[in-house]
Amino acid sequence: MTKNHAGMARIPATPENIERAAAAIRAGDLVAFPTETVYGLGANAFDPQAVAKIFEAKRRPTFDPLIVHVLDLDGLAQVVAEIPPPARKLAQAFWPGPLTIVLERSERIPGIVTSGLPTVAVRIPAHAVARDLLACAGVPIAAPSANPFGFLSPTRAIHVERWIGDAAAIILDAGRTEHGVESTIVQIVPELAILRYGAIEAERIEDVLGPIARRIESSSHPVAPGQLPMHYAPRTPLRIVHGADVPWEERSGAAYVAFANDAHGYATTRVLSRSGDLREAAGRLFDVLHELDALGLARIDVEPVPEHGLGLAIMDRLRRASYAG
Ligand code: AMP
Ligand code: MG
Repeated sequence: MTKNHAGMARIPATPENIERAAAAIRAGDLVAFPTETVYGLGANAFDPQAVAKIFEAKRRPTFDPLIVHVLDLDGLAQVVAEIPPPARKLAQAFWPGPLTIVLERSERIPGIVTSGLPTVAVRIPAHAVARDLLACAGVPIAAPSANPFGFLSPTRAIHVERWIGDAAAIILDAGRTEHGVESTIVQIVPELAILRYGAIEAERIEDVLGPIARRIESSSHPVAPGQLPMHYAPRTPLRIVHGADVPWEERSGAAYVAFANDAHGYATTRVLSRSGDLREAAGRLFDVLHELDALGLARIDVEPVPEHGLGLAIMDRLRRASYAG
């Protein structure tokens, strides 16, 4: 991807540049773009390896479920399993706009987008640039705020450039964002609850739905979504171990998830990345765990991966899964 004279990818959000950005999304690259809340760092939500790049760029030591942005209700239907009545009401009242709703995910959404959760967070943004990008790309765009882990959310393209300029093929610059705070998040399934206060007041949500529970992450005790009890953990006991170190007789009733190399004697084996690529491994991890969990075997043995880059997030996830298991 060509960068401008400063070696950066920040360019004005003209129609032509939005088309270039849409092409980058379709090619599996990352694009930073403005929404009415903050700038997002987006990838094709249907492409697990592209989504893995987001976690790499944010240098987040853990996985965090992402918000999927869609253009309209047709786009919504592609990423969720169903649209229950309360979701329709909220959609009618607040979309396009700074509201995110959590619904049962469609099979087309890879596990890395939702950190393995059966639900997906979705939003129809109002910002004209975000909408043009979605329309041109023709795919849903998974995008967290375009800041590195632990930093403030970016309200200007220059913030994105300073912090994670290298990671985005293109940063679409459309000046300062309108709200500067994140979207309000309302969970519809498994039950109604406000999960995050944001640009739409809780009272306005309750005007539409009536009184609902509030399950807010407190800022004095920040809880990463990956630590929440609702977070997906396989039912099958999971342990982190090199297959080669496991006694032969313990292998036949278990599944093995190898990083790069097979181990023999297991009931079934999945290799996350034959070339040892952490990005590919991250993109496959959640779907592989789901698939193996469904087999109902005695155990899932997972080979440790190198603890750098995305390997940190993979190992964090595995340690929690093995703890819960
Ligand atoms: P950001 O995109 O940086 O504004 O953050 C996304 C927010 O959405 C995080 O607080 C996540 O915990 C939340 N989120 C994303 N997916 C889900 C989900 N399936 N269930 C509950 N919360 C979610
Ligand atoms: Mg954020």
